[in-house]
Amino acid sequence: ETRLRFPPSPTGYLHIGGARTALYNWLYAKKTGGKLVLRIEDTDVERSTQESIQGILDGLEWLGINFDEGPFFQTDFSDDHCAAADKLLAEGKAYKCFCTKEDLDAKREAALAAKQNLGYDRTCLKLSEAERAEKEAAGVPYVIRFKVPDGERVISYDDRILGRIDCNIKEVDDFVIVRSNGKPLYLLCNVVDDIRDRITHIIRGQDHMTNTIRQVLLYEALGAPIPVFAHMPLTLDTKKAKISKRSHGEVVTVQFYKEHGFLPWALSNFLVLLGWSPGNDQEIFSREELIEAFTLERINKSSSIFNFTKGDEKFFTDPKAIAINEHYLRTMDIVELGELVKVELQQDGLWDDAYEGERQKWYHHTLSLIRDRFHTLKDFTTLGRAYFADDFAVEEKPLNKNVLKHEGLKEWFPMLADRYAALTDFSLEETERVARELAEELDIKPGILINGMRTVVTGQLAGPSMFDILVTIGRDKVVERLRDIDK
Ligand code: GLU
Repeated sequence: ETRLRFPPSPTGYLHIGGARTALYNWLYAKKTGGKLVLRIEDTDVERSTQESIQGILDGLEWLGINFDEGPFFQTDFSDDHCAAADKLLAEGKAYKCFCTKEDLDAKREAALAAKQNLGYDRTCLKLSEAERAEKEAAGVPYVIRFKVPDGERVISYDDRILGRIDCNIKEVDDFVIVRSNGKPLYLLCNVVDDIRDRITHIIRGQDHMTNTIRQVLLYEALGAPIPVFAHMPLTLDTKKAKISKRSHGEVVTVQFYKEHGFLPWALSNFLVLLGWSPGNDQEIFSREELIEAFTLERINKSSSIFNFTKGDEKFFTDPKAIAINEHYLRTMDIVELGELVKVELQQDGLWDDAYEGERQKWYHHTLSLIRDRFHTLKDFTTLGRAYFADDFAVEEKPLNKNVLKHEGLKEWFPMLADRYAALTDFSLEETERVARELAEELDIKPGILINGMRTVVTGQLAGPSMFDILVTIGRDKVVERLRDIDK
């Protein structure tokens, strides 16, 4: 059985890069019929917050990434971590190091000046039994260092994305596994937990590769099988800089997409493509299709580009993310869409219970009419507000272009309003016939009336077919809005 894990450190928001890592692990678990474990790595107590834990859990839930086990909290397993450190000490695979920070800094500087190896020089490994006992008796604080095995050796593992990775053991120095306050560090805790949770595959970012080499040694020392590693490319911006909230803002958080009316699966679909490709040009995948198509081998080796630059005026996020969201918004089941738009309308005080009763047909028809130009769920209450309320804003530009340019509209629209008010059959055909007739009588182009109407009736220059709009909005409101042209 394959067993995967997602082990976020709750020191901040859920980053889209983290969400992508979670998705790849989730996909691979689903694909192989395995299990996915959620582990909150809260060992760094000073930097972990409850708020962050909640944010991560909410974000994952919103994305629909479900876990088979967990959430587990790393701090609940500190006994395991300490036991592992003690075992390594007892077996001579780790040792106490009494060097002070000042000692180490001085040595580092000297080594730097002499252009020598910066690794720990093993001063404390060379202590005699007596020297060590003396320091212990005197209560000198110590850290525990892992003793990297001696001799010539290449440490290697087969990365499922990058191929065989080799590292000369000489390049690894004796790293710290337990702090002077007795708290085991990430490198050790992470391995101990992965062993206990019987993790078989570790899919994580390439930024962890230096850890992996050390962790491979820990697995060996603890007598556990080494899991399969797959190191994913990092996500960079168009200037090849790492994407972060500090430099790019909220757009790198999952929360941002939730707040901007993205569909969770649309974001997931986008994120999966950020670093993985199916080998053809398919971009839209249902969950099932993606689980079927996903392989670790097709994850890119090189970094992927999040096509967004801070301050990009044109797009508020990567245009591809928007395009994928549009696709789902415009093609998804209308009843399902209705549920999602309901939440938006409720938030803005625009919801009417009749939309689930006698006006349900109207509601679904309206959504299908207007969604073709929309990008996010938010557009239904902003660009689409005129369909649900009378207090919609009129776009500045179309007003100039269509209404003010034709002074005559101030007279023509009330005339049209009267004719519409008298119309018993307020249908596509009839509303169109009446508008064209009036244009002919006035000797103006019908487009002048038709385009102008779109502006006063919906507030938007562009939109669905005008007569569809009229019928959807309904006679009374149309008449009122045409008469109100001056207000
Ligand atoms: N807590 C680590 C992180 O969030 C886990 C990395 C890993 O082993 O996957 O970076």
